[in-house]
Amino acid sequence: MNLIDLMGSSVTVKVLNGKKLSQIVQNQLKEQIAFSSGKAGRPPGLGVILVGDNEASKAYVASKEKSAAKIGMRTFDYKLPSDASFSDVAGVIQEFNNNSGVDGILLQLPLPPHLDAAALLELINPLKDADGLHPYNQGLLMKGQALLKPCTPLGCMLLLDLAYSEASLETQDFDLSAVKRSDLSGKHAIVIGRSILVGKPIAMMLLERNATVTMAHSKSPDIKALTRQADIVVAAVGRPGLVRKDWIKNGAVVIDVGINRLPSGKIGGDVAYDEVISECSAITPVPGGVGPMTIAMLLSNTYQSFNSKIGI
Ligand code: NAP
Repeated sequence: MNLIDLMGSSVTVKVLNGKKLSQIVQNQLKEQIAFSSGKAGRPPGLGVILVGDNEASKAYVASKEKSAAKIGMRTFDYKLPSDASFSDVAGVIQEFNNNSGVDGILLQLPLPPHLDAAALLELINPLKDADGLHPYNQGLLMKGQALLKPCTPLGCMLLLDLAYSEASLETQDFDLSAVKRSDLSGKHAIVIGRSILVGKPIAMMLLERNATVTMAHSKSPDIKALTRQADIVVAAVGRPGLVRKDWIKNGAVVIDVGINRLPSGKIGGDVAYDEVISECSAITPVPGGVGPMTIAMLLSNTYQSFNSKIGI
């Protein structure tokens, strides 16, 4: 919680600490894995495919593998050169599909431009689709029945549940089970951004929770007028500081997905955090909000695939 003093009157704002929540999710997964690995006779396995030398991708993959190892998950690692062919990558996916020790497959994006990412993602067994990006799972998401859901939107939903929960990460005895799946009946949510990776799946998940959902994008006029009516604002755009204080209805919950490199070299979100914080009831910081949740949800998806296979 943050107590913000606005000209004498104090308003309590929940700063949704994704770094802390991600760690708590991973600690819980570690305990679950210790128990179920013993029963299954093997740990859950995550197959990771990295193509090329993109520095950011290399860092993401290293951090995902480190986090997997920390919770007792086995990783299977394939690093392919940037000139790898479609069939080289397809061959690795097939190998992971056939490997019974691999429960989740991560094809790190973006791929070098000569590779068709959508066609490669389609080759992943939907039951091992750790990123939830296979068209089969995306189709099921539309029906509210996805086997595995995209990681960043899943992380946003857990942060949203935390925003509406009585539970506070600040307390010593914080218990994840106290964060209930929130029913968003009567709430108006706006999602700014309509990408297949973030905006569209978040909108589907909000709809599943009974929110009334508006989607905005680069062709939407007067987004400010729309956000001013919203109880929940999700910004997934990639434009630093786009969402300003006067866009926000008092007491709204603000989830900032954006990751932008600022001229100062720092990372900032799509929301002008320093001014919006005085208007909202809960907000995710950048960095340390949605970003760290993505990795926790990747591990959680992999554990879920493992669990459904071994039936514990
Ligand atoms: P994307 O594929 O580039 O999509 C951006 C969306 O924003 C598009 O739908 C675009 O509209 C819309 N848009 C662009 N300018 C706009 C404007 N001025 N007003 C309203 N809408 C506008 O990006 P993405 O993959 O969804 O990612 C969005 C942001 O989230 C990026 O900063 C990215 O780095 C970040 N991200 C973070 C995580 C995480 O783990 N925290 C994960 C993934 C992405 P059109 O469709 O009309 O072009």
